[in-house]
Amino acid sequence: MSEITPDRRARINRLKKIIVISNFTILFIAILASIILLARVVSLSHQVDTLEAALVKERQSGEQKDADVTDHENVSQNDGENKADEAQKPTEEEDTEQPEETKTAAEIEAEYDRIAYLTFDDGPSENTQAILDILDRYNVKATFFVNGRDGSENEKRYRAIAERGNALGLHSYTHIFSDVYKSLDSFSSDTERIHDFLYDITGQDIKLYRFPGGSSTTKTTNMEQYIEYLNGNGYTYFDWNVSSGDAVEVQLPAEDIVNNVMNGVNGKDRAIVLMHDSSLKDTTVEALPVIIEKLLEGGYAVLPIADSTPPVHHTVN
Ligand code: ZN
Repeated sequence: MSEITPDRRARINRLKKIIVISNFTILFIAILASIILLARVVSLSHQVDTLEAALVKERQSGEQKDADVTDHENVSQNDGENKADEAQKPTEEEDTEQPEETKTAAEIEAEYDRIAYLTFDDGPSENTQAILDILDRYNVKATFFVNGRDGSENEKRYRAIAERGNALGLHSYTHIFSDVYKSLDSFSSDTERIHDFLYDITGQDIKLYRFPGGSSTTKTTNMEQYIEYLNGNGYTYFDWNVSSGDAVEVQLPAEDIVNNVMNGVNGKDRAIVLMHDSSLKDTTVEALPVIIEKLLEGGYAVLPIADSTPPVHHTVN
């Protein structure tokens, strides 16, 4: 066994210390570098999301702009940011002078891989105005399946829904199940009543219909007859394939409404979303901007139901 002098031992200890410290230093630098890289990746992916959302929004606002807003006005509003876009546009626009509005609803729908149709039942209400303002803010349109409500305030609301480019649909005049679904006679007279009521106020011959409770409602055993009546009189009825769940309780938390909609929409190319326009449902209004933002970020166009929209039907009970 060789002798270890104190001097040598001290050197060995120093060496050990240096090795341990340098190992820790290397490890620390590696961890730090990983954290910095991770943060960078997260921030970049966030930027990509934001840019994507902005692109979708821009595309959609372009599609839906009224014809009286010219492209030149758009360009000046955007500080020339769209100059590249303009350059890419074929000159056919100038040749044919076709305003975007000449596109049919079917043509617009065909342009999108994914469409969400937001539908609001049971209005108009004290929340109609707020819903319309939010839709306008994002330059998207929805569908309102309305009931018959008297009064000049409500008349204004029906007109505002239509004038601001949203679709109006019938949802029965009274929404009282025992009246609407009493017999074929009462169903047809209720349907005519809400149809004519809205025709007088808006001048629109509305052929969209949504059954109170949906076509799968257990409140009647005569649904087949009512469907036959609608089909025979030129109406198209729409159920839904996504429920916001906002009717489950008086005020479902906005966060739950957002999650219900986004989970339901996920994986669907054509989502018809059930929501409610009711003075009691403030959380629906609260959830709406978040829902629209998430839909646009997810690449969805948010459009009103049109004649060309493929109906979604529940199974009749
Ligand atoms: Zn309803």
